[in-house]
Amino acid sequence: MSSQIPRRTFLQHLTVGGSFASALLATGVADRQAKGDEENPTTSKTQTAVSKMPKPGYMLPALHYPYNALEPAIDERTVRIHYDKHHTGYAKKYNQAVVDRPDVASQPLEDLFANMAKLSPAIQTAVRHNGAGAYNHTLYWRCMAPAGSGGGEPKGELVKAIDRDLGSFKSFKESFSKAAATQFASGWAWLTVDKAGKLFVCSTPNHDNPLMVGFVERTGTPILTLDVWEHAYYLKYQNRRTDYIAAFWSIVNWPGVEALFSRAKR
Ligand code: MN
Repeated sequence: MSSQIPRRTFLQHLTVGGSFASALLATGVADRQAKGDEENPTTSKTQTAVSKMPKPGYMLPALHYPYNALEPAIDERTVRIHYDKHHTGYAKKYNQAVVDRPDVASQPLEDLFANMAKLSPAIQTAVRHNGAGAYNHTLYWRCMAPAGSGGGEPKGELVKAIDRDLGSFKSFKESFSKAAATQFASGWAWLTVDKAGKLFVCSTPNHDNPLMVGFVERTGTPILTLDVWEHAYYLKYQNRRTDYIAAFWSIVNWPGVEALFSRAKR
């Protein structure tokens, strides 16, 4: 389905910062929309695919570009398997785990991450593994744009904050790349805004993310991420994770990251 999305539609998603950010962040809203769409006779094809999942729960967003759009940085086959099998798999497994717990499933994942300690062990594991797996991949896809549209440098308030908190864009890139390269085994690198509005760079193992209170050293709202699980790069890069990290900079969706930054500061 995603490869059928016309370029014009993609560009709307890319450039309309507000709807971009809210689509990404408001998983609870997405859940409610998915429920509402069941009763709506105008349900689109994308939403029909979603309706096959157990509800209520996490709504898997469409990939807003064709599978081959990130070439040559990330090859089509990797994106196809990564989105269709891995991301979709985490979403399905999370929804299955909470299908009998509407009290949990009705909550946005952000709220569950903030209250991990209050969850029962089984639900906490489902949120930490598959819920976060679904959530993190949503951010990952949104942080990238087709080759030619992405890359370059951030602008405006974001670049000012990077200079203020991380030294310079160059030193930020070095520290993010290092976090991604040195994360042992599977995990993620993050650019995050803390409660005071300050940016910081970190990495996490498995699917842990900076929203998870009690599971990370420093919490905040992530605005840029890079998946360094081997499934994200191995087909093209094999053991050369640092080449994948270097290529990532050519496809970063800076307007999207800037929108998330504006929203996180509010
Ligand atoms: Mn992944």
